[in-house]
Amino acid sequence: MNIEKYDEIRASLPAGVRLVAVSKFKPAEDISALYQLGQRVFGENHAQEMRAKHEQLPKDIEWHFIGHLQTNKIKYIAPYVSMIHSIDSFDLLKEVNKHAIKNERTIPCLLQFHIADEETKFGFTLEECEEMLLNESFQELKNVKIHGVMGMATFTDDHDQVRREFHHLHQIFDELKTRYFSQNPDFKELSMGMTEDYPIAIEEGSTLIRIGSAIFGPRY
Ligand SMILES: *Cc1c(COP(=O)(O)O)cnc(C)c1O
Repeated sequence: MNIEKYDEIRASLPAGVRLVAVSKFKPAEDISALYQLGQRVFGENHAQEMRAKHEQLPKDIEWHFIGHLQTNKIKYIAPYVSMIHSIDSFDLLKEVNKHAIKNERTIPCLLQFHIADEETKFGFTLEECEEMLLNESFQELKNVKIHGVMGMATFTDDHDQVRREFHHLHQIFDELKTRYFSQNPDFKELSMGMTEDYPIAIEEGSTLIRIGSAIFGPRY
């Protein structure tokens, strides 16, 4: 763990930018240590791992799910998850809505966009997303709330490319806000930026940075 780096990142955050401490693969003790320092928002990308940590740790932690989510795993997170960053299909959103109903709650969600070069990354294209937003059955999903968008830049040293990709995500956010969410004050989050690229993401308008290895150390 690198507490100094954690303090440095926190001190450097502009107003309106929140830190999601990405604790995937890291033990509950590491999360506790950061909790002692006041951190309340943690990110995980495996549903069962998140459930186990949720059961062990203080109940005022906000758990953010940031990884690719399979529909058969939603049940492990639906009762308590604070935000799902990784909605990448209409089918997934519908399933999340069903589980939210079952748990008598509303689940905040972000729409994940594919902004990187790499084929391996998940996410909507703008076209696919608009098709969903225009679908009548989208309006019927009352137990999910769309709070904004999320994206991952290409893993590259080319800072200009990373900046272009984040800029692109910001444009997508603006377009969706104007066309579909102008009356919706919840639609305000731009989740972008990780250990390697968060300073650029903040310059490009991020409101949620997701940082793992800079704080918790490398994942082996
Ligand atoms: C692992 C992960 C992060 C954090 O990555 P670091 O490079 O360790 O900061 C952020 N977002 C997503 C979606 C991740 O899977």
